[in-house]
Amino acid sequence: MNQDDWVTSGKMGSRDAVLVFRTNILNPKTRKTLREAKSIRIDLQNREVTSSSSTYVSVEKLPICSDRRNQLKATLNSYSSCDTSVSSDGDETTKYIEKKPRTKQKQHISVVEIESNLNKESGYDSTMASQSNTDSTTSEEDQDPSSEEDNDCGVNMPAHQFQITYKFIQTETKLLRKIFNVHGLTEVQSESDFNLLWTGVHMKLDTLRNLALYQRVNHFPRSYELTRKDRLYKNIERMQHLRGMKHFDIVPQSFILPLESRDLLFAHNKQRGPWIVKPAASSRGRGIFIVNSPDQIPQDEQVLVSKYIVDPLCIDGHKCDLRVYVLVTSFDPLIIYLYEEGIVRLATVRYDRNTDNLWNPCMHLCNYSINKYHSDYIRSSDAQEEDVGHKWTLSALLRHLKLQGCDTHLLMLNIEDLIIKAVLACAQTIISACRMFVPNANNCFELYGFDILIDNTLKPWLLEVNLSPSMGVDSPLDTKVKACLVTDLLTCVGIPAFSPEMRSFYTNKSARQRSSSCQRQVDTTDSSATLRSTKTKKKPFGLINLTQEEQRILRSARLQYMRRGGFVRIFPTEDTMQRYGQFLDSANGIPLSTPNVQGQTFQALVTQHNYNQMLYSNLFCHGSRCIKDDNSQESRIEQYERALETDSEISFLKKQTVEKCEEEGRRLRKQLLKKIGSGSTLTHFQARQTFSLYLESVLRRLTQDPKDSHEKIILKFLNKYGGGVKPPVLFRNTQNISKARSAMVAKLLGDFLENYKRDTEAYVDSFDHFGMIPTSVYSLFLMHAQESDLEAVLTHHTNITGIMPFLYNRCGLSVPSTPPIPSGLYGFLRALPAMVSSSGFSRDVSKYDGYFKNYDKNCENIRDISLRSKSTKDIK
Ligand code: ADP
Repeated sequence: MNQDDWVTSGKMGSRDAVLVFRTNILNPKTRKTLREAKSIRIDLQNREVTSSSSTYVSVEKLPICSDRRNQLKATLNSYSSCDTSVSSDGDETTKYIEKKPRTKQKQHISVVEIESNLNKESGYDSTMASQSNTDSTTSEEDQDPSSEEDNDCGVNMPAHQFQITYKFIQTETKLLRKIFNVHGLTEVQSESDFNLLWTGVHMKLDTLRNLALYQRVNHFPRSYELTRKDRLYKNIERMQHLRGMKHFDIVPQSFILPLESRDLLFAHNKQRGPWIVKPAASSRGRGIFIVNSPDQIPQDEQVLVSKYIVDPLCIDGHKCDLRVYVLVTSFDPLIIYLYEEGIVRLATVRYDRNTDNLWNPCMHLCNYSINKYHSDYIRSSDAQEEDVGHKWTLSALLRHLKLQGCDTHLLMLNIEDLIIKAVLACAQTIISACRMFVPNANNCFELYGFDILIDNTLKPWLLEVNLSPSMGVDSPLDTKVKACLVTDLLTCVGIPAFSPEMRSFYTNKSARQRSSSCQRQVDTTDSSATLRSTKTKKKPFGLINLTQEEQRILRSARLQYMRRGGFVRIFPTEDTMQRYGQFLDSANGIPLSTPNVQGQTFQALVTQHNYNQMLYSNLFCHGSRCIKDDNSQESRIEQYERALETDSEISFLKKQTVEKCEEEGRRLRKQLLKKIGSGSTLTHFQARQTFSLYLESVLRRLTQDPKDSHEKIILKFLNKYGGGVKPPVLFRNTQNISKARSAMVAKLLGDFLENYKRDTEAYVDSFDHFGMIPTSVYSLFLMHAQESDLEAVLTHHTNITGIMPFLYNRCGLSVPSTPPIPSGLYGFLRALPAMVSSSGFSRDVSKYDGYFKNYDKNCENIRDISLRSKSTKDIK
C-alpha cells in the first residue's frame, strides 16, 4: 500500500466519486494506525467543471438553503487538498485505479488521496504499513479485535464523514458487516434511507421503484430467471430450440416433474440413468438424491430431474465441482465480470461409478455443507495452502491441471462462454423488469455464484446459479478469497461518495421524477435527438456522436473497468460481437430468447438505441481509447491461473467463548429443577434455547463419535418433524452404516437447527414476567450447561408441566399428548421421536424407506418401556 486513499473515480463531492474498499484494512495493525489517526485530509476540490460531459456538482449549485450551503462548504474546506493532478477535461479528471499484477500487491490506487495527518506526526509512513500488512507474526490479540475497534477505525473514513449507510435483509453478515464497518459505513434499519442495501432474498419491487440515484442494491429484479433451477433450465432449453443445441449445450438434460414425467421416461428409455433429483428451489444439497430409474422418484413434489454426469473430473480420485463468482453490473448494455479466483469443492469419499454407491452423498455431492460433517473431511488451516484438503482455489486447480498437461486455456474460455450464454438466455426478462422498476441506471448490481461441474473431457456443465452466494467464512482460505471478492466487488460497482446534502438533493429529485413518470429516467431514443452533442450528421457509434446517456454509459463502463480489482471483464471483450452478436437483436442489441419479439413487440424493449453495440464500438474499435491489451484472452487466463495474494492478514472476531464451568452448570441445574418443581415454567424462548443448545451438543457428539442408535433416533425425529428437513438421499439400505451416513444425519440435524434457531428469534422475551425463571439466571445456566444438564431440565420441565414449548406452542390443534420421558442418560433423546405427531409429508417419506418402518417398532418399544418405568415410579 502506497497511499491511504479511499475515494476514486472522481473528486469527493462529484457525481462520479465512489468509495474504495480494500482488504488490507481488515488487518488489525493497519486498523490500529488508522484508529490513532486524528484526522484525514481529503481532497475535496470544490470546483465547477465546464465540460458538457462533466458530472461534477458544485456546492454553489446544490439547491439547498444558504445556511446548509455554508455548512457544507465548511465541511468540505475542513479537508485540505492533497492531489491536484486534475485536468480540465471531464473524462480526464479521474486518475483511474490501475490494475497491477496480483502478486504481492493490492491493486487499488486512487485519485483522491486521503492522508492521515497523524501518520506524519507519529512518524508513520506507508512503507511501515505495508510491512505490518505482511507481518505474519501478528499476535493472537491483534487477530481478535473487537467490533468496537472496527467501528473506531471506520470513524476516520470518508464514508463515516459522509454518513454513508448500509442495510442488511436476511443475509450472512459476519464478513460483510466487518468490511462495511471498517470502511466507515454505518448500519441502519430504515426501510428506504440507506446507501447500500444488501439482501439475501429477492428485492421488493416497491423498494426498487423508489431508489434514488446514489442508492445501490445487490439484486436485479426478476433475477430468479437465472437463480431458480427450474427457470434457468427452461430459459436455456428455449435458447437450445431457438439458437441451436450446439450453441447452448451447457446444462445436463433436465426435466421438471411431475409436468414432464413422460418426457423423462422417454429420455430414460433412449438413454438410461442415473438421474439426479433436486427440489426446484433449494440449495446446499438439501433434498437432493440420485436414482437409477425415474420410477424411484416420488411424484408428489415439483422437482428438477437432471441427467447425472457419471464421469466427473476427479482430483486424486475425488469428484469436484467449482463455485465461480460472476458480477453483472448492467444488463443493458450487458456488462459481466468473472472473479479471478473461485472455490473448488471436493467430495470426501473417493468417487466410484458403481451404482450401488448412489446413495452416498459424500461421494456424489460436493457441497461443503454436506461434506463438512464427514469425519475424513480435511480443512486447510493456512490461507496459502490452496490445494490441501477438500477445498481448493480455482487457480490451484488450474495449475494442477496444467501440470498434468490439460488445456486450461480452453477450459477457462469454455467456462466464460457458459457464463455468458446462461446470462444471455435469461437477460431479456430481466432487462424489461429493470426498465419497469429500476429508476436509475446504476442502482442494481448482482453477484451470482455459478456452480459448475467439469467432466473428464474437461467440458464444463452449469449446475445452477446461486442468488446470494454464501459469504460464510470458515477457513483462512475462504476468508482470503471472499474478503478480496467483496472488497473488489464494492469498489467495482461503486458506492457513491455523496454527502448528506447531495443525497437529499438527489432524493428529492428522484421523488419529483417519480411523480411525473414511473419508468426509468433514461434517455432512450425519443429525446435523444435533442441531446446529441454534435452538430455533425450522426455517424454510427462515433464517440463524438453519442447522446448524453450513451456518453454516461461509456464513461461509467470505463471508470468501472478501472476499478475492477480482481474482476475480469468477460463481456464485452474484443471478440464479443463476433462470438455473441448473433444472439443479440440487430436493432437494439437486446439478447433475445423468444422468437416473436425480434425487432417488434415487447413494449418495454422497443427502443432504437443499441447500447451493447455502442459500448463495444467505443471500447474496442479502431481509434477509440482501447483497453484491449489487459483484457486479452491470454491475460485473462493468466489472471485465473495466478494465485490470489493479499498483502495483509485478515482476521475475524472469534466468538467470545466463556469457559464452561461444569460445577457451575450442575449448581444452576439443581437450582432450576427446584424452581420448576415449585411451579416456575420455562418461557417458549427459554425452552427453545435449551432445546437447540441440547441438539447442538448432540450434533457435536455425533460428529466426533458417531453412535448408530442415536443417529437412528435423530433421523426418526427429523423425519417425523418434517418442516423442510428431510433426507436428501433415500436411505434404503440399512446396511449402509458408515461415516458417510453419519455425516448425512449430522447434515440434516445441522439444517434443522439452522431453521429452528431462526424461528426461535421470534420468541425473544422482552422482559421478565411473573412465574418465569429470570432471564439472567437462565442465561447463566445456558452458558455453563453440559448436554446432561440441558437434558435434565428439558425432561423435568416436560414431565412436570406436561407441555413441550420447545416443539409446540399449545395453540396449535395438533399438539400431541406429552409422552412420559425417562430420566437418566439419553432418556430425553430416546423419547424425542415420540414427542412429534406423525403427519404430513413425513409419512410419505417413510413409506419409501423400510428403514423407518423397522424403526417405528423400536420407538413403540421405547414408549412402552418409558410408560412402564413411569408407572413403577408412581407406585413407589
Ligand atoms: P444445490 O444448490 O442444492 O447445491 P447443485 O445443483 O449445486 O444443488 O448440486 C449439488 C451437488 O450435486 C453438486 O455439488 C454436484 O456435485 C452434484 N450434481 C448436481 N447435478 C449434477 C449432475 N447433473 N451430475 C453430477 N453431479 C451433479
